[in-house]
Amino acid sequence: MRTLGQNFLVDTRIRDSIVNCAGVRFSDLVVEIGPGKGALTRPLAQRAGVLAAIEVDPVLAHDLRRMFRGEENVHIYQDDILSCDLRELVHEHSAELPKAYRALVVANLPYYITTPILNKLLSNPGLFSAFTLMVQLEVAQKLTAGPGSKGYGELSVRAQYFTEPALLFEVPPSAFDPPPSVRSAVVRMRVRPESPVDADPDVMFSIVGAGYGQRRKTLRNSLLASHLFAGKKDAVAEVLSCASIDGRRRAETLSLEEFAAIARAYVKHKAGEDD
Ligand code: SAM
Repeated sequence: MRTLGQNFLVDTRIRDSIVNCAGVRFSDLVVEIGPGKGALTRPLAQRAGVLAAIEVDPVLAHDLRRMFRGEENVHIYQDDILSCDLRELVHEHSAELPKAYRALVVANLPYYITTPILNKLLSNPGLFSAFTLMVQLEVAQKLTAGPGSKGYGELSVRAQYFTEPALLFEVPPSAFDPPPSVRSAVVRMRVRPESPVDADPDVMFSIVGAGYGQRRKTLRNSLLASHLFAGKKDAVAEVLSCASIDGRRRAETLSLEEFAAIARAYVKHKAGEDD
């Protein structure tokens, strides 16, 4: 089913590199998204304490269950990654592992839902220790881009706030069957144990969303148009000045620390309004 992003990995060297880079240990729980025909599933199952694989295609899920019948550390779920409860899944299997287990995600992602999957993984802080993912090269570049560089945007900010993303290596279309029309790359995203900046994450991501809400507008105008400021020019000016940010800049140039400074200034401004 092409519509399900079914480009199966057939290059065994790339498969081995992914599994090695994921650094799976026998005390780990590995969640694999879209196991497909099991290219990664088999080597992952040999290294992990528990492997839980979520495959939406009923035929593939059925074949995988047969393939892994009798292997007690492998659990195949026929489910949609976007609607399944990852927290419940991890907790369900944690009893089979040592107390200090890590939960890791390893996947050759279905590209048509890359962003919603990444958002789902990033919105479960504390659940996983790291993600090792095959994504489109363009997405890998976005995840790792710095302020002002090509591809830097809302996804970069979210990914870099919650994790430390690294582009490990590029993968040509010939590594898959059928070959996808785009180049791919493997990224590793280590989840940060602590936030890299001092700001309330909800406020900060409201500011980030507002900043990116009006593409090609200056930060001042984007914030002005957002529900956070609802057209109050003085409030925008006060917050930006308190954060020492020039309102003529664009969101794509702001670092995590600068977004955090605006979030802190916004909280201060709100507290002043309420007094
Ligand atoms: N892991 C296999 C490999 O490396 O050869 C297959 C990777 S293929 C790029 C993506 C896999 O994700 C396919 O098996 C596809 O059926 C599955 N998939 C697509 N949408 C999904 C969803 N919403 N939830 C879970 N799996 C999904």
